[in-house]
Amino acid sequence: MKKTKIVVIEDEPDILEIIEYNLSKEGFEVCSALDGEEGLQLVKKEVPDLVLLDLMLPGLDGIEVCRKLKADSVTHYVSIIMVTAKGEESDIVLGLGMGADDYVIKPFSPRELMARIKSVLRRGTLKDDNALDQISRDGLVIDVNRHEVRLDGEKITLTAMEFRLLHFFASHPGRVFTREDLLSHVSSDDAFIIDRNIDVHIRAIRKKLDKHRDLIETIHRVGYRFKDEED
Ligand code: CA
Repeated sequence: MKKTKIVVIEDEPDILEIIEYNLSKEGFEVCSALDGEEGLQLVKKEVPDLVLLDLMLPGLDGIEVCRKLKADSVTHYVSIIMVTAKGEESDIVLGLGMGADDYVIKPFSPRELMARIKSVLRRGTLKDDNALDQISRDGLVIDVNRHEVRLDGEKITLTAMEFRLLHFFASHPGRVFTREDLLSHVSSDDAFIIDRNIDVHIRAIRKKLDKHRDLIETIHRVGYRFKDEED
């Protein structure tokens, strides 16, 4: 079986060594680069399954690398997990907006890193055809054809916007979305009167989800995500 290939771009040798060790131990094929420019070339050459991208890099920084990878038709579909320090939330929001799949905050445990990697690999790059006709989760059932949501068997009533949001979330468990992401994914031309304040809609959905309200998690200063199946 072909090994899953991961490129690690990280300028701190000690951290890089730990990451390489743990990835190899898990059976991944690992290539690494110590700066952004070298990393960019390596990803273009290897076209890996996933990139672990440190954001604070000398020269070309991680956000620039992310932007360039997403703009290139060959590397566009490579999954990206950003590696950041605490307090870099604005960069996380920027990176997610560019199409990065997830992020981990330093310091992280090898276990946490592996969980994020496996989750991202499992769901693949975000594509709209991920959306299923029916989604069931912890007593919540979303039926798209019937435009119906049931909670522990009871039908609940959502506005069109709430329905679209909830369906979009539930189609991409574990993925963090910024408010802008959410708005652009669920807005449609006919819905010009909708309230553009995502938080208001989320609050309304949570209220209706009642004891299942925790399915939608708030990610402080970044956005929201639908609980991952293995969390
Ligand atoms: Ca760094």
